[in-house]
Amino acid sequence: MKQVRTTCPYCGVGCGILASPDGRIEGDPDHPANFGRLCSKGSALGETLDIQGRLLAPQIGGRRADWTAALDLVADRFTAAISQHGPDSVAIYGSGQLLTEDYYVANKLMKGYIGSANIDTNSRLCMASTVAGHKRAFGTDTVPGTYEDLDEADLIVLVGSNLAWCHPVLYQRIAAAKAARPALRVVNIDPRMTATSALADLHLQIKADSDVALFNGLLAHLVDTQAIDLDYLNNHVVVCRDAVAAARQSDPRDTGLTPQTLQQFYQLWAGTPRVVTVYSQGVNQSTSGTDKVNAIINCHLATGRIGQPGMGPFSVTGQPNAMGGREVGGLANMLAAHLDIEDADHRAALQAAWQSPAMCTKPGLKAVDLFKACADGRIKALWIMSTNPAVSMPDAPAVADAIRNVPFTVLSDMMARTDTGDCVDVLLPAAGWGEKSGTVTNSERRVSRQRAFLPIPGEARPDWQIICDVAGRMGFDGFDFAGPADIFREYAALTRLSRQFGKDLDLTPLANADYDALPPTQWPVGQSPRFFADGRFFHADGKARMIALKTPALTTPTFRLNTGRIRDQWHTMTRTGKSATLGAHLAEPYAEIHPSDATVLGVAPADLLALGDGQIFRVLISDRVAPGTLFAPMHWTRQTATSGLVNSIPAIGVDPVSGQPALKGAQVTATRFDAG
Ligand code: SF4
Repeated sequence: MKQVRTTCPYCGVGCGILASPDGRIEGDPDHPANFGRLCSKGSALGETLDIQGRLLAPQIGGRRADWTAALDLVADRFTAAISQHGPDSVAIYGSGQLLTEDYYVANKLMKGYIGSANIDTNSRLCMASTVAGHKRAFGTDTVPGTYEDLDEADLIVLVGSNLAWCHPVLYQRIAAAKAARPALRVVNIDPRMTATSALADLHLQIKADSDVALFNGLLAHLVDTQAIDLDYLNNHVVVCRDAVAAARQSDPRDTGLTPQTLQQFYQLWAGTPRVVTVYSQGVNQSTSGTDKVNAIINCHLATGRIGQPGMGPFSVTGQPNAMGGREVGGLANMLAAHLDIEDADHRAALQAAWQSPAMCTKPGLKAVDLFKACADGRIKALWIMSTNPAVSMPDAPAVADAIRNVPFTVLSDMMARTDTGDCVDVLLPAAGWGEKSGTVTNSERRVSRQRAFLPIPGEARPDWQIICDVAGRMGFDGFDFAGPADIFREYAALTRLSRQFGKDLDLTPLANADYDALPPTQWPVGQSPRFFADGRFFHADGKARMIALKTPALTTPTFRLNTGRIRDQWHTMTRTGKSATLGAHLAEPYAEIHPSDATVLGVAPADLLALGDGQIFRVLISDRVAPGTLFAPMHWTRQTATSGLVNSIPAIGVDPVSGQPALKGAQVTATRFDAG
């Protein structure tokens, strides 16, 4: 095999890669997401391609099995659970690592054939609050802007996003724009000083979860200084008096910022028409995540700063295919092609298109509730795909127990040993990056091909094929696909329903395209890359909504634990952990603590700190975190460390609108740990 054009399997930037079977990896100079740039993780992909630790054959009860026995067992147990306990007694938990084609057939199976929407994904932990905020404001889950807006903005506001480590190529793009145009201003809003702060002209070290107060204060400032666009509001936004009244109820001093700093930020924002507000997990992973999203969007709507070059709210997704999953209805409260699961006409149209026997009738269980249903016995059969919830979900030990409590459990995954794999009955070997083919969609709605350039090892199979094989054994037609191209064509043709119901997603021009040669393509296909340029939104009246938002009550726990990625690792390290180059960055779990707190606790640099139920972390003392807060990375698992597992510490709750867990909001006690 020769060099192929493919897409990075890590973050939602979606960088194009030139990959060779001998492991050589280069950035694709022609891919519009990265123009040849790669970060440390993408560059080290060649070090992660060996088959050490791979799951190479199916296992039943820890013993090697053949595919026929394993697939028959999965189909039989799912069928039996459905017939005895109903369709809502089974569930699938997927991943932003799945390709769009995998996601599509998994959703088709659950929502159109089994007749339940109990299919959720680890994207619930990533950007569910953004999806909910988009739907409230725009009427559908639409990302308005494009990466080019970062090149054209005069002000970029980064909220709750350590872009330098988590979306490094976008950070490099902003750094390059700033070098070329010194007038470009960057504001970083984060309770923590991070590598991203180095690029910022202004770092606002706000109190955790005070984002709504900050942006409500901005909205009030925009009104008071007549910086709002009344024409735009009158023509394109539903009356927003409640939103303004609620904004006035907020006290921006709750952010902990001085009045002078607040004024500096508000004046800069108000006085700079071309502003892009980029946000990520510091916004989404919160009990007020959806409100934070709408607080940002409110300010853009109030000024008409949306849908035009260099302006708009811009959510960046964490995973390589979080967006593709959203497109095919990969969350328990969505349908394919951005149709509404709670609309009977939408459900009927989708069922007619699929000609399927048993359409779901209501939203399914979101991730946290799904695992609660596993714990209390409602779920009788569970299939987990390409993810590791026994370590990545909040309160992970309880989630591991919940999985063990389900009478029949399956994991399809690349790796032989994971924390989740230790809890299940059946392991199915899945093909990995470089071995399978399909599409992913990045944060700016650009569909790109992942292409195989390596042979599939052992008996592993692509996820789409495993799902279709089980569906066929359950007696369902509609899964007789020859390959991912076939699946993509069906899905792309289906998106005609989106336009039919006045929604945004239309990939129909790609239904007859040459799949093998498909270039990176942004939707809406063949049109302006930005949505809302004409001021029309996807609510029935064509207008956007400003949302009235109350400031959440802020808690003052003993310590508030903030979690996130480090520069050179990805999620639970099943792949990046193989790279010696990446391992050299940071070798063990650590907890970052403010000097004043370190003094009170009596800890010195490199001492050990016990958090919560006794998870042990190496101490890193720095004033990059605020007093009363800690930061710890999320990557280490029971497979890779004996302690330092952040998700063993229960989170404080979920966003009531989106169901996204507040992974950045655990309240913990902290004590010095003496290893002797
Ligand atoms: Fe991969 Fe993201 Fe790095 Fe690009 S920025 S190379 S997509 S991890």
